[in-house]
Amino acid sequence: MASLKLKNIYKRYAGGVTAVNDFNLDIEHNEFLVLVGPSGCGKTTTLRMIAGLEEISEGELYIGDKLVNDVAPKDRDIAMVFQNYALYPHMTVFDNMAFGLKLRKTPKDEIKKRVNEAAKILDIEHLLDRKPKALSGGQRQRVALGRAIVREPKVFLMDEPLSNLDAKLRVQMRTEIGRLHNRLNTTFIYVTHDQTEAMTMGTRIVVMKDGYIQQVDSPTSLYDRPCNQFVATFIGSPQMNLISAVLTQRGSDLHLVFGKSDVKIPEGKAKKLEGTDYIGKEVFVGIRPENIHDEAMYLESMPDSIVEAHVDLVEMLGAETFLYMIIEGAVSTVTARVNARSKTKTGDVIKVAFDANKIHLFDKETERTII
Ligand code: ATP
Repeated sequence: MASLKLKNIYKRYAGGVTAVNDFNLDIEHNEFLVLVGPSGCGKTTTLRMIAGLEEISEGELYIGDKLVNDVAPKDRDIAMVFQNYALYPHMTVFDNMAFGLKLRKTPKDEIKKRVNEAAKILDIEHLLDRKPKALSGGQRQRVALGRAIVREPKVFLMDEPLSNLDAKLRVQMRTEIGRLHNRLNTTFIYVTHDQTEAMTMGTRIVVMKDGYIQQVDSPTSLYDRPCNQFVATFIGSPQMNLISAVLTQRGSDLHLVFGKSDVKIPEGKAKKLEGTDYIGKEVFVGIRPENIHDEAMYLESMPDSIVEAHVDLVEMLGAETFLYMIIEGAVSTVTARVNARSKTKTGDVIKVAFDANKIHLFDKETERTII
């Protein structure tokens, strides 16, 4: 069983860079935890501190009940898989996988058994006699995973393990790593800058920015209830649209007014805004592409949230169509994900319906979620 606890962890590099700021997290046994965020946000540094490859400047790291700040990497019962695989070029696949066990003086029979079992799981039994240079990228990645599996570690750490693979193989390996996690019944901590990878693989996701944790949540909660504008726009592809609007009271109703458009806020959401000092002020409206509609049935059923749009580009993808539109007040081009059979054409001036139940509002200054 391996749970982990990171308590008030900081990493300060010489030269004044604080790469990780007050990182607090409890990771449960058997979780598939993903650390995600843009380049430089501190994900690799966090993983390397867990592995023991980077000293912790301040704070406490526990694996199980044991404080491991000063425990050497080899004694942490952790295996790490790197982006560049780090295989020994002069050794066969078998020897690459067996290397760590040999160092630990594991008996020969046991080594053979574990390597063969791992090779079977990863479907690389037929490659055991080859050298890394005679393998494809995907096969090398499997060997790197195999080398970690044979050690039967308490925790698997993975740093962008799929980023050197082509798009198709990446999708395939994504599923395989998920399956591996189910099979091994172990804790996985996985670093990526790719939000799709994070969303599809993680049971829980930590979103980081500038060394700070922004939000820790399940994939659906992150998507549906982002805590701020950064998380809202980082998670989801194409990203959430942002429109600057004035929150306006009319009678007992609240409206979002931008350009000539007027979107009534549904009662349930409006209640949460009552008595706040946002009324009369500018806010950012966030709406995901799939919540903007161009079909007549939506325009009829959502008469209180009709918005005029100039269609800049229509992209037909077969299963769906993307409309890229200019809407007054929007921060940039607004994307709608509509029906594949949409009749909308480039250059059209159309009316679209915003699903007002699905809108988010953000504070313009703090960028925190209002509702
Ligand atoms: P990427 O996705 O690009 O790998 P990351 O989120 O993993 O980014 P880190 O590699 O953890 O980010 O780096 C976090 C910050 O710490 C960055 O600003 C980086 O420049 C800085 N940093 C990393 N290693 C060192 C070092 N050895 N010395 C000084 N600063 C460092």
